[in-house]
Amino acid sequence: MLVRDGRACQHVRTDTQTPCLQLATHVDHIVPAFEGGSDDVSNLRALCEYHHRRKTAREANRARSAVPRRTLHRPRRMNPYL
Ligand SMILES: [Zn+2]
Repeated sequence: MLVRDGRACQHVRTDTQTPCLQLATHVDHIVPAFEGGSDDVSNLRALCEYHHRRKTAREANRARSAVPRRTLHRPRRMNPYL
């Protein structure tokens, strides 16, 4: 896997369209497993440690916000001045 991508980070900057190409030490799921991504090589790519960590952090935020918040359904305290 890392060999296929030449051990270069596959992350492309969206603003400049230039690839990172740092030494890739991580294999990343393009579509994360919890969103239905497969372990197939077509869903895997090489990333450097920095970009993999950033992507994983973003996905963790998304996974958290997808969890329904029970507190939303708790009845609000009535405002006595209304
Ligand atoms: Zn990178």
